[in-house]
Amino acid sequence: MNTNLVDLVYLISAVFFILGIKGLTKPKTAVRGNMMSAIGMLIAVVITLLDRSIVSYEYIIAGVLVGGIVGGIMATKIQMTSMPQMIAMLNGCGGGASLGLAAASYLLTLGGAGYEGGAMGMIAVSFVMITVLIGSVTLTGSLVAFAKLQELISGQSIGFAGIKFLNGALFIAAIVMLGMLCLDPTNSTLFWGLIAASCILGITIVLPIGGADMPVVIALLNSYSGIAAAAAGFIMGNTVLIVSGSLVGASGLILTQIMCVAMNRSLTNVLFGVMAEGSEAIDADEIYAGKVKSAQPEEIAMILETARRVVIVPGFGMAMAQAQHAVRELCDVMEDKGIEVEFAIHPVAGRMPGHMNVLLAEAEVSYDKLVEMDRINPTFEQTDVAIVIGANDVTNPMAREDKGSPIYGMPILNVDKAQTVVVIKRSLSPGFAGLPNPLFAQDNTLMVYGDGKKAVIDITASLDLA
Ligand code: NDP
Repeated sequence: MNTNLVDLVYLISAVFFILGIKGLTKPKTAVRGNMMSAIGMLIAVVITLLDRSIVSYEYIIAGVLVGGIVGGIMATKIQMTSMPQMIAMLNGCGGGASLGLAAASYLLTLGGAGYEGGAMGMIAVSFVMITVLIGSVTLTGSLVAFAKLQELISGQSIGFAGIKFLNGALFIAAIVMLGMLCLDPTNSTLFWGLIAASCILGITIVLPIGGADMPVVIALLNSYSGIAAAAAGFIMGNTVLIVSGSLVGASGLILTQIMCVAMNRSLTNVLFGVMAEGSEAIDADEIYAGKVKSAQPEEIAMILETARRVVIVPGFGMAMAQAQHAVRELCDVMEDKGIEVEFAIHPVAGRMPGHMNVLLAEAEVSYDKLVEMDRINPTFEQTDVAIVIGANDVTNPMAREDKGSPIYGMPILNVDKAQTVVVIKRSLSPGFAGLPNPLFAQDNTLMVYGDGKKAVIDITASLDLA
């Protein structure tokens, strides 16, 4: 097929990707944006299939069947609460695919012997090696992230004293091997050494990252998978892979930066796998003893009766309890009674960026009611009741006040400033960061113990009767 025509069609699909990403920036246009990206991908796939010079149909059909079935099952069966694991796994697949492509390209040229000498040869080899390095780190790093989020291994920091030095040594070794391979691609021992060092680096970078830092690492691995795909695009001379990989790489990096700010982690620390350091263990009994007050749903309904402004603060527990529809009904009943209701959305509430937005959209809560942290925080002082549903870390005042706390500096929702705080959760157990929360022991806080969905339904029923 005419290469100019192929490039033109690739350009059109790249335009669809860019319009798709633009659409995804606003909830109202997100579905259309997703559709546009899918159309762009369809165009890219069709033109690639028609371009016979790079296609073997038997393998493509087998790949489409296997991938389509696995992807279809995953997409329909996966629980909303398991989305981060799925994203980690998909990032790993992206990295693994780029690694496979680079390795195949290297092996097909007889262990690199087929690469031409001279400057062009070196550039081609360098793209192969860069893809190998980033693809391997993304593959193994994502598998570790998956294992942590799926609780196959501990979600907390796993490591040892010298892990930072090991990471540094592995990184330097990988770069040296990469450089040597660019000069002499025929040294296949070095090639396997580069793969081994990069795979171990992926594991040792992610293992020490735990607790509150996990979302940052997922976003970062997402970016890595894009960079690996872009580098693979250079190997194949495939423009659309370069463009789409760069889009994923750049948007992943921007998301990483946004998450870093939301969790008070510097990108350098995340990149070098340094865990946020805390002081000595914090004693939950000392914080809670004799200070925590609990209440029944009927009592909460009575408090809500007299409220003028209520802010609902959803967190991971709302997702666990699948309470979003019950929460929407509570919101409707309160509004029928003339109460002003808004939702406070923390950027890392739940287990993935946008987790709360997706759940509340599913329950058809109007997007106008979802208010970002920076805009809602100044309003808590004028809020009669803040209802915290399964949120914990994102409301922990230690992040604001306790310099020794591992989450010190993480921006939080200032729910403690509301006149009354109602916290719905099953117990005093900590959240993802594993820390006690002094909010629960505050004078103006009432705990409603129980499953999020049931507690919200009970409050709504009592309020409806009132
Ligand atoms: P947390 O993980 O801090 O707390 C969730 C709370 O929900 C728990 O304390 C738990 O308490 C409660 N809960 C669990 N199940 C139920 C249920 N069925 N009904 C009622 N409550 C329930 O959640 P947050 O949303 O406040 O914070 C998110 C945390 O996750 C942050 O530390 C963030 O860094 C991290 N994270 C975020 C990601 C993201 O991208 N958003 C990704 C990965 C991690 P109890 O057991 O007592 O019920």
